[in-house]
Amino acid sequence: MNNFGVRKFILSQILALAVLSVPAAILADGTAASTPVPTAIPSALIDRINRLVEADNSRLTAIFKDIHQHPEIAFTERRTAAIVARNLKEIGFKVTGEIGRTGVVGVLENGPGPTVWFRADMDSNSVREATGLPWAATAKQRLADGSEIDVMHACGHDAHVTWLLGLAKIMAELKSEWSGTLVVYAQPAEEVGLGAQAMVDDKLWQRGFPKPDYAFGAHTFPGPVGTIVSAPGVRMAGTDQLDITFNGVGGHGSTPQMTIDPVVMAAQAVLSYQTIVSRNIDPQAAAVLSVGSIVAGRDNNVIPETATLKVNLRWFSPEVRAQMLRRIDEINDGVAIAAAVSKARMPTRLMKGTAGPLVNDNLLMTRINPSLRVALGKDKVLDEFPSVMGSEDFQEAFQSLNTPYAFILIGVAPPEMYTKARAAGRPFPYANHNPDFFVDLAAIPVGAKVNTVAVMSVLAKRP
Ligand SMILES: [Zn+2]
Ligand SMILES: [Zn+2]
Repeated sequence: MNNFGVRKFILSQILALAVLSVPAAILADGTAASTPVPTAIPSALIDRINRLVEADNSRLTAIFKDIHQHPEIAFTERRTAAIVARNLKEIGFKVTGEIGRTGVVGVLENGPGPTVWFRADMDSNSVREATGLPWAATAKQRLADGSEIDVMHACGHDAHVTWLLGLAKIMAELKSEWSGTLVVYAQPAEEVGLGAQAMVDDKLWQRGFPKPDYAFGAHTFPGPVGTIVSAPGVRMAGTDQLDITFNGVGGHGSTPQMTIDPVVMAAQAVLSYQTIVSRNIDPQAAAVLSVGSIVAGRDNNVIPETATLKVNLRWFSPEVRAQMLRRIDEINDGVAIAAAVSKARMPTRLMKGTAGPLVNDNLLMTRINPSLRVALGKDKVLDEFPSVMGSEDFQEAFQSLNTPYAFILIGVAPPEMYTKARAAGRPFPYANHNPDFFVDLAAIPVGAKVNTVAVMSVLAKRP
């Protein structure tokens, strides 16, 4: 996930209203009775979870540091996947690997009851780490084509995997306390928005795994350790990654009159795109269009044949998405026509990763939050929080099944750093994807606890 950016306060207010409007039941005599308020799981169970997390902390911290020091970019997470598979097998999960290339699914059946799926993503970012921490990643990653890239867990997926393994172990140890099926799984390639779809395309739902009644995911955010965002409704924007290629006519840099310059076309398009959000999209709607890369040519004195723009979109409504795509096409064609490009060589648009908005299930949130409040403290569970323009592909795995899901943000910044940043007028001390992003070690047990309490809220045997 990336870019905790624009805050949509209006949307968050609408969400707050949506929470309040959970329907009240009407009794036979016509009087209204409020729907039973979901209660927390027994505090004795939360105490046991706390103790098990503490007992597991040094193991989890070692796993976290190991994964952090060995980051793997999208679809190359073989080492990380092996760690997940080994740990899950050791504690009795039935494990299947290599789903969507590196995905791992572990199943723990424990009697009748609902089936819960819990996801961690495994991939890292191409960022050069600048934290200076003793467990910082220092090596580059060599890709299949022989090239080398900087690589770092700058989005906290190393913590996600660690938290997942903590959850799995505690649930295996507390089998007598719950009934149902727990499926934990590690997903590849979240950062490129392709991993969830890759698992689905690799027959995730045709392999005979128990189908989810509920799904969960958790993500780091640079809020203070001990605080989480567990809020209903629209949480994250939908996103698309697309490549636009302008086809020109290459030639010598000294004779532009004999060419059609794709670099100039690409430059014109980049500037014209800026008016899509500012002039075409309803100002009340949120949208982002960013060009993250321009790829064209090599030599100073050669006009290349093609120029490619790597574009990223963010949106909340499918209509806004369609409008942005339409305007991109119109601008591309307009620029090409103005440059006298022939009909046969019009610009192309290649759609790559895509994901819809992430929308937490209202009822599931009201079910898990009471327990999370007992576990973390009343004021540590934020159930109203602005949605962000950052995106996820977690929900894409469950699209065809309509599974209600909860996606929780877990604070990973040292609280004193967070307080200082706020005092200086900054929303967070640092940001995901930055070279200085880090997960405070104190967040390791917190995440394991949050995951477990959330799952127990659904699976625990109730007196
Ligand atoms: Zn990310
Ligand atoms: Zn992420």
